[in-house]
Amino acid sequence: MSGRTVTARSLSPARNEQSTLQRLNGLIGEVAESNEFQRDRLDGVVLHSLDDLRQIRPVDKDDLLRDQQAHPPFGRNLTYPRDRYVHLHQTSGTAGSTLRVLDTEEDWDWWRGCLHDVFAAAGVGPADLVALAYSFGPYVQFWASYEGAGAVGANRIALGGMDSVQRLETIREYSATTLVCTPSYAVRLATVADQKGLEDAMSSVTRIICTGEPGASLPAVRSQIESLWGARCFDHAGLSEVGAFGYPCAAGGGVHVNEREFVAEIVAPGTEDRVAAGDVGELIVTAIGRRGFPAIRYRTGDVVECCEDRCPAGHTDRWLPGGILGRTDDMVVIRGMNVFPSAIEQVLREFDELGEFRITFYTEPTAMDEVKVEVELSQPGQGRAIQARLRTRLGLRVRIVPLKPGILPTYIGKVRRVVDMRQAPSGHETRDRISR
Ligand SMILES: [Zn+2]
Repeated sequence: MSGRTVTARSLSPARNEQSTLQRLNGLIGEVAESNEFQRDRLDGVVLHSLDDLRQIRPVDKDDLLRDQQAHPPFGRNLTYPRDRYVHLHQTSGTAGSTLRVLDTEEDWDWWRGCLHDVFAAAGVGPADLVALAYSFGPYVQFWASYEGAGAVGANRIALGGMDSVQRLETIREYSATTLVCTPSYAVRLATVADQKGLEDAMSSVTRIICTGEPGASLPAVRSQIESLWGARCFDHAGLSEVGAFGYPCAAGGGVHVNEREFVAEIVAPGTEDRVAAGDVGELIVTAIGRRGFPAIRYRTGDVVECCEDRCPAGHTDRWLPGGILGRTDDMVVIRGMNVFPSAIEQVLREFDELGEFRITFYTEPTAMDEVKVEVELSQPGQGRAIQARLRTRLGLRVRIVPLKPGILPTYIGKVRRVVDMRQAPSGHETRDRISR
C-alpha cells in the first residue's frame, strides 16, 4: 500500500469537466475491452460531454447479483485477471442478495482517497484518535474507514469483537476524539453509557461520523445523537459496489457528492428521467476512478433530494441537504402517496423518551393499505401527539400502538424496523418483506 501525504491536496476542488471526460473515456475504453459484464453496454461509447453518459444503459444491484449467480462466485464485472485483485468484500444482505466485490491495489488506493475526503471534511487530523465501532467482518465499511482515518493522519482503534461496555471503556482509556458507527448504534452506545454509569467515556468524543444506514442527515436524528453525546454528528454515503461517493458538509449538514471522483444523476425511481429541484429521486452514480470492478451509471437505490443550490458555505460539489433519505425499495405507496419509512422515523425521533418502534404496512380487509406504528412510550398520551404530528408533517393517517418500554427488540447496526405485510393487488400473495 502506498502512503498518502496528509496535506497532498485540498478537499474537493471544483470538478474540471475536460479532465473528468478524459478520465471517463479512458475508463470506458479499457473496461469495454476486457470486462465481459460491461462490454455490451460500453462498446463504441465516446463521451463528448457528461450528458453523453445517458447513452449508457444503467445497471443495478440485481444485474450484478444475477451475473454472480450465473458466473459464481465473482461474476464477470472484472476488468483484470483474477490475480490482480487483493481485496474481497461482501455486502450485507439477506440470503441470495449478498454481492461480492473485488478491488485491486490501485482501486483500494482510490477508496482510501475517497475516505480521506470524508474524514478531512469532518475535520479529523493527526491530533485525533478515531474509534471504529464495527465488527471485524467482510463488509467494506470498517476497512475503508480505517484507511481513510489513517489517510488524514489520525490514529485509529478498531472496536470489533467487543461488547458495548468494552467499547466505551476503550474509548475512555484512550480518550478517543472521534467515533465511527451507524446512527442507530450511536444512540444505542449512549444508552448503554447511561445505564452502566459510563457517561464519562463519552466526554472525549467531539465528533461522530455515521454511515451504513440512512438517518444521520435527518435533522431530528442528528440532533438526538448530538445532544446524547455532546458532539457533532457527520454523515457520509457510499456503497461497496460503487465507492464512498458522499462526504459530510460541516457547514450545512447533509452530504456533498465527491464530484472529483463521481458523476451523480438524480432520476425518478425506475426511470432515467431527471427530477426537478425540490423533488426526491434515485441517485445514479458513475465512479470515475474505479477500474477493476467498475460502477458506471449504477442505480444506487439511494433516494435523495435534488437540490440545485449551493450549501451555506458555498462549496462547489453538489449538495444533498438531507443526505440519503431512504432506499427506493423501502418506498411504499400508501393510498397513492410515496411514503419513506425514514420520514416516519424522523418524526418519531422528534419526541423525547421514545423507546424502540416498529413500522408495519398492511392491508385492511377493505383492501385499503394502512400504516401501523408500534412504539414504546414512557408517557401516556404521547401516542396521540405522534399521530397528530405524522398527520400534519406527512399528510399520513397512521395507527399508533403504544407499548411498554422493553417489549420490542433493540436493533443494532443495519436496522430492521419496517415490516411490509400488504397484500399484492392479486389478493393472494403477501409482500413478505422486511426492509433495510
Ligand atoms: Zn458544504
